[in-house]
Amino acid sequence: MNIGKIRRIIYISIMILIILISSVGFTYAATSSELKQKQSDIDSKIAETNSEIAGVKSKMTTALNQINELNSEISTYQSEINNLQDQISNLNTQITQKETNIQEEQQKFDSQKEALEKRLVAMYETGTTSYLDVLLSSDGLADFISKYYMIEQLAEYDQELLDRIQNTKQQIETEKNSLETAKNEVQSSKSAVETKKSALSTSVNQKNSLVSNLSEEEKALEEQLEEFEQDKKAIQAELAALSKKSSVKTVVAPSAAGYTSPLPGRTKANITTGYQAYAGHTGVDFACGAGTPILAVKSGTVVTSKALRRANGSYRSYGEYVVIDHHDGTMTLYAHMSSRAVSQNQTVSQGQQIGSVGSTGNSTGPHLHFEVLIGGNPTNPKAYLP
Ligand SMILES: [Zn+2]
Repeated sequence: MNIGKIRRIIYISIMILIILISSVGFTYAATSSELKQKQSDIDSKIAETNSEIAGVKSKMTTALNQINELNSEISTYQSEINNLQDQISNLNTQITQKETNIQEEQQKFDSQKEALEKRLVAMYETGTTSYLDVLLSSDGLADFISKYYMIEQLAEYDQELLDRIQNTKQQIETEKNSLETAKNEVQSSKSAVETKKSALSTSVNQKNSLVSNLSEEEKALEEQLEEFEQDKKAIQAELAALSKKSSVKTVVAPSAAGYTSPLPGRTKANITTGYQAYAGHTGVDFACGAGTPILAVKSGTVVTSKALRRANGSYRSYGEYVVIDHHDGTMTLYAHMSSRAVSQNQTVSQGQQIGSVGSTGNSTGPHLHFEVLIGGNPTNPKAYLP
């Protein structure tokens, strides 16, 4: 082998080595950024699922409250129905009593009438049934008058008695009729209340099946959440493994990071809400006027620039937000912007405006929510800020 050939072989070997190394490096960079993107997507999904679960739970609470209200209305109606039923029973008793009275009066009338007829027949048989007979059989005018009055008085007395019985019977019948009218009225009120009660029962059944659907939905969402959490853990483990391999072996010390303020003229003395990771506040807040420029605290690459929105289009969580990778083991996150001035993969320099202060997402007033991330995990930004 001549020198030239050896040189060529060495040269080619070096080229292959360079290509291999750079391609491995490239693969790592793509994989890491992909994983971070995936992790951020999963976090969004987790937040979304949690808010869906909260929504489902609140619907369930509403439905259960409605069921309670309906049940209490139903029991009111039921006691009304019971009350009306008591009235009906009472009226039925009275009507039965009246029917017995009517029968008694009818019997009285019948037996009285029979007795009268018997007397009249007897009188006829003894020849004193007609005025003419009385007249003809009379011994003179005095006897006639006496007999005449006797018959007339007897007839009048019997007739009066019959009339009285008949009247009583009619009166009882009138009373019975009005009792029946009252009973019908009560009966129709009872029917109306029963209709209402049955409508309410139907609606209770509907609500109950809604609750059971919602609890199924909640169960499914909880399962989904569990899956997301597992995915997240897997990605975190992968990221941790990658960061071990990463060229950035040691994360820059806060004092050496060289961050400048994310807001013009502000320092950490201007923080309005501190870092409280245990309470879910994974960054610091600077309350300030809407539209204030937000500045990159250090040069780097924009890894995220997007808006978090619900299905209906409204902002949620961070709203309009940006994440910058500073290639020193740290990343910074800027949330609730009114607008973003940079896009993903863009290189930014320190102090460059990346957006403007707003109140998008989970925010009650214009402020900057600022986070420092190490290996994708938030840490207290205070130590990094001037
Ligand atoms: Zn905040």
